[in-house]
Amino acid sequence: MSTKISRIRPGSIAEELELEEGDVVLNINGNEVKDIIDYKFLMADEYVEIDIEKPDGEVWTYEVEKEFDEDLGVDFENSIMDTARSCSNKCIFCFIDQLPPGMRETLYFKDDDSRLSFLQGNFVTLTNMKDSDIDRIISYRISPINISVHTTDPELRKKMLNNRFAGNVYERLEKLAAANITMNCQIVCVPGVNNGEELIKTVEDLYKLYPAVQNVAAVPVGSTKFREGLYNVTLYNGKTAKEEIDNVRALQEKYIKEIGEPFIRLSDEFYVLSGEKIPSSEFYSAFEQLEDGIGMIRFLRDSIESTLPELRTDISGEFTFATGALAYEEILRMANTIMAKNNRINIKVKKIVNRFFGETITVAGLLTGGDIIEQLKEDLGSGKIILPVNMMKSGEEVFLDDITLDQMKDTLQRDILICEYTGEDLIDIINNNSKEE
Ligand code: SF4
Repeated sequence: MSTKISRIRPGSIAEELELEEGDVVLNINGNEVKDIIDYKFLMADEYVEIDIEKPDGEVWTYEVEKEFDEDLGVDFENSIMDTARSCSNKCIFCFIDQLPPGMRETLYFKDDDSRLSFLQGNFVTLTNMKDSDIDRIISYRISPINISVHTTDPELRKKMLNNRFAGNVYERLEKLAAANITMNCQIVCVPGVNNGEELIKTVEDLYKLYPAVQNVAAVPVGSTKFREGLYNVTLYNGKTAKEEIDNVRALQEKYIKEIGEPFIRLSDEFYVLSGEKIPSSEFYSAFEQLEDGIGMIRFLRDSIESTLPELRTDISGEFTFATGALAYEEILRMANTIMAKNNRINIKVKKIVNRFFGETITVAGLLTGGDIIEQLKEDLGSGKIILPVNMMKSGEEVFLDDITLDQMKDTLQRDILICEYTGEDLIDIINNNSKEE
């Protein structure tokens, strides 16, 4: 456990108290701080007494008067102050089980920790939690939590998660919902296992817990080329992806009438695979499920259209936008829209095929630096390269295979610009990296 402070945020209470990096938070109001949840819970008061151990071993007590929900304004060496809990499942669709050997060690860690769900939005299965852990979520009001449900059928869930303790998820969801804990649910759809009628039943069960269960994200199972010895999953194709869209349509329409939104949404992959029309922005409400790949295409399309008037028409420039197979058609469309507004801007869109994991993996976020370099080299234009930010590890300029952005720039001998998945950012990049005419 580590409650050692690693950063003091500017303008924070900690700065005012002259706390320093390396100080350790021992107790709050006489209670030991065991993890981040304890810390947040104990800090939720207007008056707190905090025991801090200084690097020389001296312990100082600070009395703090503050707003109820203000915290110290520090980062800790370890964001959860504890060892993250790993999962006790062996899901038939687990992506980590399909990684080849020799990758960065942290990629193999199967976390299943409700504290990470609360802090970073990770999904948890609730299978490695005792009843007392569920009670702590309730009494400490840890909310929202992101939960991987997959199915509400107890026997099927045990089979899908390969865990005999996985069957009681619905009872736990009911208990959390009764305590007004907000939940976002996810379903990995495996054709022939939990899709079709099973999916409908699961969604109907979850809808009974609305509004505690806020929404459900359904994503298709993915398969890399490293699946030897694992469950033989069937992947979606154009036909079955359309069938799934049709399968949930009636439910979505019913829920839109009842609560103003579809409650269950399918990820963009279903629409791209089937060639079905991308739903409107109203369908995605506030785009809360972008992290699950739900609504990215609509979001991007709308943000390009609304920002297009900002594109300067007195500039010229040449760019190559590299993306995964999933977003390729959409990025192409976006590039054509931009070039139609200013024909002195030339954007080449390069589809990067996932040779590392296999061609069935189509999202940009699972491309390796090696694949990007190799395929850009095959057809390297003269302009600057634009890459979407999700190709790199969050907050770092490192790709999945540990190739750094600088290494990529050196190898390709090109400027590489990193773009958020928004029209605003893309148009900004083009405006600021083109020549004035
Ligand atoms: S919960 Fe399932 S999918 Fe997630 S890491 Fe564990 S085995 Fe893999």
